[in-house]
Amino acid sequence: MFNKILIANRGEIALRVIRACREMGIGSVAVHSTADADAMHVRMADESVCIGPAPSPLSYLNFPAIISACEITGAQAIHPGYGFLSENAQFVQVVEDHGLTFIGPTAQHIRTMGDKITAKDTMKALGVPCVPGSPGGVDTVEDALKIGDEFGYPVIIKATAGGGGKGMKVANSATEMKSAFQTARAEGKSNFGNPEVYIEKYLTTPRHIEIQVFGDGKGKAVHLGERDCSLQRRHQKVFEEAPGPSITPEERAKIGKVCADACANINYIGAGTIEFLYENGEFYFIEMNTRLQVEHPVTEAIFDQDLVREQIRVAAGLPLSFTQDDLKIRGHAIEVRINAEKLPNFSPCPGRITQFHAPGGLGVRMDSALYDGYSIPPYYDSLIGKLIVHGRDRPEALARLARALGELIVDGVDTTIPLFHALLKEDAVLTGDYNIHWLEHWLETNLT
Ligand code: ADP
Repeated sequence: MFNKILIANRGEIALRVIRACREMGIGSVAVHSTADADAMHVRMADESVCIGPAPSPLSYLNFPAIISACEITGAQAIHPGYGFLSENAQFVQVVEDHGLTFIGPTAQHIRTMGDKITAKDTMKALGVPCVPGSPGGVDTVEDALKIGDEFGYPVIIKATAGGGGKGMKVANSATEMKSAFQTARAEGKSNFGNPEVYIEKYLTTPRHIEIQVFGDGKGKAVHLGERDCSLQRRHQKVFEEAPGPSITPEERAKIGKVCADACANINYIGAGTIEFLYENGEFYFIEMNTRLQVEHPVTEAIFDQDLVREQIRVAAGLPLSFTQDDLKIRGHAIEVRINAEKLPNFSPCPGRITQFHAPGGLGVRMDSALYDGYSIPPYYDSLIGKLIVHGRDRPEALARLARALGELIVDGVDTTIPLFHALLKEDAVLTGDYNIHWLEHWLETNLT
């Protein structure tokens, strides 16, 4: 096992990893930009190293600075958290070239799944059901129009290198195709340096269901059920729950096995998430994320497992600490993402926190790096906390969420907390009867 791990991240996820290290008796090294000198992850880690100025390309994405920080502190492994370098194959290669361990999958797995066209081809070949669409990349508007005619409108044009909801455009008809196609290509090029796009049938009422998988890198893999992340704004998740209200135990076992087998087949190592759209009882693969997800705590809650500990263990060469049969679901969990954003436009709202009080009590977990007097810097993501609740069933989890939100105090900046108070009054949320478009429609009628 490692003696010391460097966490190449910030905010709540850095704390999450530091906590796992501490429980495992492993030393932790925080890295930070000059803007984060007073951040909680710096205070909480055993050691810290400043790796550069505020803009992330100069600090949190700065390979040489991060590798040097490992050398200076004697850290043997790097946990990337999510975002930043977590799905950067080149970084993984550099880490390995320096004799260090990357806590995550191999560079090859990241590369395969990071390119959505290759990912889809790979999954299809492994027997995973995919959204119908173009057989590969589509280079011209003429070809795009042919695909539109073949599959019928609406279709979605997606950048193969896309992520975070960027590089996707819907075309409802042939007349919309040209501009949607060009916009998706332009966004792919400007955001990810790759204009290549592919086209899928646009599903009109699907749910977003994702399967948590874990592999040991030696041909063994298990699944930890699904999360329903259908409540989204601009293709970004805001509320996640597990198990999915619409998924039966039989469906879970079946799709879970398909995913675990696919991972075993490619010798996948570590945590991964296979994302699907789910409509009329069918699953359609959309992408695989080769990292820990923001919403992993809902899975931890219902399976009573520590996924970060497991990531560290398999990265150190240990076998998985559970078998498929060990993994039994217990109750229901919900996570809401608290962002420093001003409603109704969700514009980022950095600033000084004048008061912070985290909720507590049975079944409540608050993952946040906030503290009284902390100043949220304007340079990074607006996620400032995740409130996770666990109950014996969905109604209990919902009641607990309402109760915990009532206790939560974040003063000094605007946050998305009022959104969740309002959502918990909606029948669709209370009954779990929503799809990926429900929140957008609700926001249009209720928040503008
Ligand atoms: P990203 O990598 O940017 O997160 P994804 O491929 O995971 O992109 O898709 C994100 C979201 O976009 C999905 O959860 C869903 O809401 C929507 N989406 C993607 N593909 C389709 C599709 N074929 N039909 C309908 N919605 C889609």
